Amino acid sequence: MATIFTRIVEGEIPSYKIAESEDFYAFLDINPLAKGHTLVIPKREVDYILDVEDNLYKEFFLFAKKVGRAIESVIPCKRIGLIVFGLDVPHAHIHLIPINKASDMSFESPKLALEKEEFEEIALAIRNAFEKL
Ligand code: AMP
Repeated sequence: MATIFTRIVEGEIPSYKIAESEDFYAFLDINPLAKGHTLVIPKREVDYILDVEDNLYKEFFLFAKKVGRAIESVIPCKRIGLIVFGLDVPHAHIHLIPINKASDMSFESPKLALEKEEFEEIALAIRNAFEKL
């Protein structure tokens, strides 16, 4: 059965899209730790990130880097933190999280409850920034 993220890529499940290429897709995390918290995934389903083939792995991180640049140009923060867990959704994904201190990346912290309009506004701003890079 397809993962929830494959269903997002295929447009079966809605997402707040940030960017897309032939091989990758980026969208806002629905339970964000910070405004702009984004997930980057390979379109082709691979569960464990270390199983991503070498060529694609490099491209994956380059794509995530560009998405990170777009996020930091829109969301005030010291850094974009990158983190990979993959314990919940069996489809490799990199979390990109705007942070000011290490604890901003703690998944033990409460998530932000954002309205649909806020998600849309953030996604649009980052998407526009990405397209200008
Ligand atoms: P993990 O696999 O532990 O890295 O966590 C999966 C992440 O995917 C969590 O941060 C969830 O909030 C996020 N997530 C799960 N379903 C969706 C969805 N439909 N749209 C956006 N983000 C999601």
